[in-house]
Amino acid sequence: MSIYVQNLIIWAWLSWITVAQQLAERWEKVLLIEQRNHIGWNCYDYYDENGILVHKYWPHIFHTDFDDIREYVNRFTSFTNYQHTVLWCLDNHLVPIPFNLDSLYWVFPQEYAKHLENVLLQYFEYNSKVTIWQLREKAKAENNEDLQFISDYIFEKVFKNYTMKQRWISAEEINPNVMNRVPILISRDNRYFPKNKYQWMPVGWYTKMFENMLDNPNIKVLLNTKYDDIKDNIEYEKLYYTWSIDDFFDYKFWRLEYRKTLYKLEEFDMQSYQKNTVINYPNDFEYTRITEYKKFYPMSPTYNVEKTVICKEIPWKWDIDAYPIEDEKNIELLNKYQSITPDNVIFLWRLGNYKYFDMDKAIKNVLDWVNNQ
Ligand code: UDP
Repeated sequence: MSIYVQNLIIWAWLSWITVAQQLAERWEKVLLIEQRNHIGWNCYDYYDENGILVHKYWPHIFHTDFDDIREYVNRFTSFTNYQHTVLWCLDNHLVPIPFNLDSLYWVFPQEYAKHLENVLLQYFEYNSKVTIWQLREKAKAENNEDLQFISDYIFEKVFKNYTMKQRWISAEEINPNVMNRVPILISRDNRYFPKNKYQWMPVGWYTKMFENMLDNPNIKVLLNTKYDDIKDNIEYEKLYYTWSIDDFFDYKFWRLEYRKTLYKLEEFDMQSYQKNTVINYPNDFEYTRITEYKKFYPMSPTYNVEKTVICKEIPWKWDIDAYPIEDEKNIELLNKYQSITPDNVIFLWRLGNYKYFDMDKAIKNVLDWVNNQ
């Protein structure tokens, strides 16, 4: 015997929790099925036995320019004023990234740094941001040796090896939008997301925020339940599917390509493991970056305990995961799958859209979609 549900949502990731929240608010009934033993999918976090807030899978930092998204999320959590910074490890020096005018002084002798700063300011306005591609083009067009030098330096030391290590594709071949996420800043702003209006970490934790979003009698959540195990016994008006679109269709046209990362948590008996929340390693080691979780919450009462937890990000292999390879060949394949998608099956988020989204865009994607229904 099969049961009937109005809206069946597979997996409790941020996008689908937002869908559930929005539909329930419109008096629709929602059944959300989650194969893990917790909600939040890879954004799940918890306090460990030392009172340190750990993101179980990988670090999540919220940043956005959208006032409506800030307002929406603010209904379910309040925010700390966390400003994210990243240091980049270059031959044992730690340098601010995105590369900015300050970074010059951390890398080069002071006088030479001053000279390069003047060169950059000759071609770009103070406080502007420039993609590595714009910098390279400018250097080529102007035929200025110093501009060429700094452009080559940043490309070689910051982007080239990191991109190959992280995505297994050369910096020249990858979709330029990927590297454009980390521009060069013609300013002294050392924050990783300097141009975003809002950046924060939730007061409490993400999981608490998700619980608040799901707190509606129209929503039922079933944990520890695999879709495959119940799909023959359940009928739905609409299905919201989290996993990849090619998987849903049993790869009938072929596989879309993704890049997978391993996230390795390690605990240490020390108050502090590293100098900053995140340190990037473009050129050495197998990992691309290390995050020390407690540094997201420097005001936490447990900040000074002699324990800390870090997360190492180790690029792994081709597999379904958060990093779609958005090149022409894959987009063509995506279009084929989209053309055969029934009206009552909805794919959202990275795997459904085959697009790399930040958290705010994931929510925006859902709110826009719900508002267009
Ligand atoms: N990137 C880089 N060196 C860095 C940081 C980033 O080359 O130190 C490039 C790389 O291509 C990466 C992209 O910028 O895939 C986006 O970086 P971001 O920090 O946004 O990575 P994500 O959070 O998407 O893993």
